[in-house]
This record gives sequence, structure tokens and C-alpha cells, in this order.
Amino acid sequence: MLNKIATPSETKKILKEYDLRLKKGLGQNFLIDYNIIDIIINAAEIDGDELLIEIGPGIGSLTQALLEELKDGKLIAIEKDAEMVKVLKEIFPQQNKLKLLNEDALAIEWKKIAKENKGMGIKVIANLPYYVTTPIIMSILESEIELEKMIFMVQKEVGERMSSGPGTKKFGSLSVAVQYHMKPEIVHQVPSSVFLPQPDVDSVIVSLTPYSENPHQKKVIDQEFFFQIVKSIFQQRRKTLRNSLSKSAVINLDRDLVTKALELEGIGLKKRGEKLEISEMISITNRLYKMRN
Ligand code: SAM
Repeated sequence: MLNKIATPSETKKILKEYDLRLKKGLGQNFLIDYNIIDIIINAAEIDGDELLIEIGPGIGSLTQALLEELKDGKLIAIEKDAEMVKVLKEIFPQQNKLKLLNEDALAIEWKKIAKENKGMGIKVIANLPYYVTTPIIMSILESEIELEKMIFMVQKEVGERMSSGPGTKKFGSLSVAVQYHMKPEIVHQVPSSVFLPQPDVDSVIVSLTPYSENPHQKKVIDQEFFFQIVKSIFQQRRKTLRNSLSKSAVINLDRDLVTKALELEGIGLKKRGEKLEISEMISITNRLYKMRN
């Protein structure tokens, strides 16, 4: 029987046995704490018959625990480092529930995976280097595949930005982009001591759950235009909404048009965009879109 991987002694043993030199650029810090693994598993609410997609399995610390939860389901693990994939193949030799992909998660066609596994509920679970986490989350959200859940270990700061609301310092483009698609929740604060080697920053586990009915997407007339407005608001977040929209580097909007649109929306000309709810951003976007066309 396979030993439990996510312990300090077993992790050290595997690194030594396979002579693995960790690649800092790939953020190779491995989980060595089963309390954290249990929290991730519980947050994912695994039924056992779904498709789990793990991004960045490393030496399989979380992979092993995920496989134990599966009954008829399947796990696709996407790992960029070929050396890790080789090790994973040896650690899990006869796991027919596991499909290992030696690929960069940034280049994955999520729609294709969803299509190939049509009918299965999909949950994404990842503990990744922090600099790729946001682009990967965005590429999954923007692919608009149907998801049941996403559970990400992210740098504390990033988790807070994802889940913050209007009027707070951390509320920004990332908050809107994430909350436009799914409901974020910080499930747990994670100290750096649960990793080997220890990273420099603390982390949080973030859960993203789809809305039973998305309150935002169906209201937006033009999604691209909406995100241009969002970008304009936060690129100049200290400015009033009127100034950030009429002096935007992203879109060209006439100042009088912006003034008129704000008046019609009942939004004070001195209000800052960072104080708007997402629903208000959508209303002003739609108003501008119609007035412009
Ligand atoms: N999941 C394991 C754990 O929790 O112990 C390993 C986590 S480690 C923080 C991140 C893993 O992601 C590494 O194995 C690294 O090689 C892999 N990785 C980094 N960038 C990646 C990318 N763009 N696509 C897929 N895997 C990546």
C-alpha cells in the first residue's frame, strides 16, 4: 500500500528517492499537512462520480487524497513539469481513474475537456504558483464551461482581492471578473508552515461556486464593453467615475455622454467607480452602450 504522501517524512523521501531538484520558477512547494488537505476536500464537496481536474499535482500530495474520494468519477491532473509527471506515473502506476497530462495549464482548452467529459459534473482544484493562478482562473472562467466548484489555494492577498466588495481597498478588476462569474469565499487561512519547502507568503483556500442563476451575465448587453468599463474604473480608481470613464486609456467616451449617462442612472458625478456594486457597473455600462450606438 502507498504511504501517505503529504507528510514531511514521505515528501522528503520521495524528493530524495527520485533525486528531484525543485524548480522555484514553478512554485514547487508541497503540502505536508492533512488538516489542510481535508479542508480542501471538504470544500470541494466531492460526490465521487464527478470529473475532478487538479492543476499542478506535483508529487501527488493532494492527488492521492482526491483519488481516495472518487468512486465512478475521474481525475485529470495537469502538470507542467515532465519530471513530476514521470514521478507521478511511478507513484500511481495502475490508477485507471487518473489521467495525467504533461501540459501547461495556461494552454489548456477547457472547452475541449468539458466536451470530452460531457454529462459529468466538473470541479477544479489547484494549488499553484501564485503568478499563474490568476490567469489560469480567468482562462477557466472565460471559457464559460459549466463548473460545480473551483477550489484554489492562493496567496492571501489574491484571495482577498477576489472576494472583496465595493468601497474596500482590495476591490478591483479581479474582484469584478471573478464575482461576475462565480461566488467567492475564503474557506481557510493557510500558514506557510504547511508546505515543504516553505514559501515566503501565507495563503488562503478560496472556494468559487457558480450562482444558481447568474445575476450579472444575463443583464450585460456587451461583455467586452463591460470589462473595458471595469478596467477604466480601476485603472484610475482614485478619480471620479466621470473622469475615469471620459479619460480612459481603454475606451473612448465623450465627457458629455458620460455626464448624461450618470445623471440618467442617478449616480452622483463625484462618485468613484470603485464604490459601485457590480450591478451598478452593469447598468451604467448598458446605458453608455445604448447611448453610444
Ligand atoms: N498540488 C501539490 C501540492 O499541493 O503539494 C503541488 C503544488 S506546487 C505549489 C505547484 C505545482 O504546479 C508544481 O508541481 C508545479 O510544477 C506545477 N505547475 C506550475 N506551473 C504550472 C502550470 N502553468 N501548469 C501546470 N502545472 C504547473
